[in-house]
Amino acid sequence: MNLQPKQIGEEKIPAIGQGCMGIGGRFTIDRSRDAEQIAALKLGIDLGMTFIDTAEGYGGGHSEELVGEAVAGIREYVFLASKVSPNHLSVELLTLACEDSLRRLKTDRLDLYQVHWPNPAIPLEETLGGLLRLREQGKIRHIGVSNFSLPELRRTRSILGSTPLFSVQTEYNLFERGPEEGIIPWCAKEGVLFIAYSPLDQGRVVGSEAVRLRLVKLARDVGCTPSQLALAFLRSQGPVLPIPKALSEEHIRENAGASEIVLPSGIRSQMDAECRVEVKLVPWHHIRPAPDKTGDHAVYTTIEEARANLAGHSPSPQDLAMEIVRNDRIKPIRVTPISEGNGVFQYDLAEGRIRFWAWVLAFDGERDVPVLVRD
Ligand code: NAP
Repeated sequence: MNLQPKQIGEEKIPAIGQGCMGIGGRFTIDRSRDAEQIAALKLGIDLGMTFIDTAEGYGGGHSEELVGEAVAGIREYVFLASKVSPNHLSVELLTLACEDSLRRLKTDRLDLYQVHWPNPAIPLEETLGGLLRLREQGKIRHIGVSNFSLPELRRTRSILGSTPLFSVQTEYNLFERGPEEGIIPWCAKEGVLFIAYSPLDQGRVVGSEAVRLRLVKLARDVGCTPSQLALAFLRSQGPVLPIPKALSEEHIRENAGASEIVLPSGIRSQMDAECRVEVKLVPWHHIRPAPDKTGDHAVYTTIEEARANLAGHSPSPQDLAMEIVRNDRIKPIRVTPISEGNGVFQYDLAEGRIRFWAWVLAFDGERDVPVLVRD
């Protein structure tokens, strides 16, 4: 099994990186845990997790400020990746957003600048043109994208021309295996780094108790922890860099240790057989648009509300619907079963609230929704 860092072009990328979503706050600034969070990032760097992924959107920009403090004095040993939000993809706003990120990170260049989410309302040519200019100016070294579909990736490659697309960032974990069907093989063929976000399924590692028990047993056989087995499995699938976010010292050490795990032959097919969760197709009216427990997202409860997009989501459900029709697919919506169903609703909508309505709008409710069911 390959224990080497991933080689992308001239760059050597460490086996495991560090994610920063939630560091410095979720969507708004939270300064209450600054010292602890800087120390966590520094420990991860000391242990070899020198690839750091942040975003202007994390903690209202404070995540970038904390990363800037964590890498002060050791900047050249760290590969710094940040992301521009989908509402900043015009050339003008992109340029300003990059300047703001550089200032918060206290650096004069980003190693990787990624489009966080596509925004169909802004031409891709304009955004990529802006990124190419930032690259020419030396403000960013590499260009990446996140949450792009395969057709969008192909378009990106062709618009960038001779400039390489460095990376694609997509959700990938033992619960969400979708990228194995298209994007990861494409990255392997094209020499593009695949950055696996939420590689531990936001700390759940797997989607259900039954799968968790099977993973615990497999990990015991390998001689590692379930999280380490999950990270090693993802790494083994191609040019994949998992970027777990961890604040507890135990988690940070465990994640760094995952780069040492040697997967015995046969374990991958065993994990395939025992840990895979299939995508189900469910009529949209069986899914209840339940409130977001974090309170971070406005929830549309009817198709009319989603069409009107009164909460001003950008891109809007209608924008995404046009994209879905073009691509004919979406990342599966996350649902949880309703134990005492009232006969109509069978599932609660857990994640993917905008995507859910976009799918319903795209096909006028005629096509069942692809979902992954979580316990
Ligand atoms: P994640 O890394 O899958 O999970 C983070 C959670 O797992 C935290 O609660 C952490 O707890 C816990 N954890 C960490 N290591 C663990 C271990 N060894 N065993 C058990 N639990 C462990 O989820 P994520 O933060 O969503 O994703 C990682 C990074 O991907 C983000 O930080 C961000 O950089 C990126 N991301 C990008 C996008 C995008 O749209 N491009 C979306 C989501 C995430 P403690 O913190 O308490 O240690």
